Amino acid sequence: MGSIFNFEKFAENLGKVCQCYCYQCSQKTTWKFGKLTEWARLFSFKTIPFRKEYFVFCEPCGDDHELDSYEFKRIESIVKSLGSIDDTNVKEELFNRIHKSQLENTCTSPQEWNQISDKEPS
Ligand SMILES: [Zn+2]
Repeated sequence: MGSIFNFEKFAENLGKVCQCYCYQCSQKTTWKFGKLTEWARLFSFKTIPFRKEYFVFCEPCGDDHELDSYEFKRIESIVKSLGSIDDTNVKEELFNRIHKSQLENTCTSPQEWNQISDKEPS
């Protein structure tokens, strides 16, 4: 028995956001942003936008980080008028968070973890 709902995902690449350091790539890379919309198709005649996700990702390695809709709109309007978020405090805020989460995710051994943080390994 199948579900009456079918889910379809559409990913949209919205282009360049800025140049910034990526810890996965260990170099400065191009970051882009995108939108992922998940549609629920009911009985194949009605589609409902089920969920929208916004994200920024590193172009070479594809490491992606979610944005809330407020952040997304801010970034989108800056990119439209300035071409990128380079030299804005939006970039600083965003990459503070991205770098923190990259470091948390890439450091799997307690030794590495201790080098970048004072936290006790559990
Ligand atoms: Zn990368």
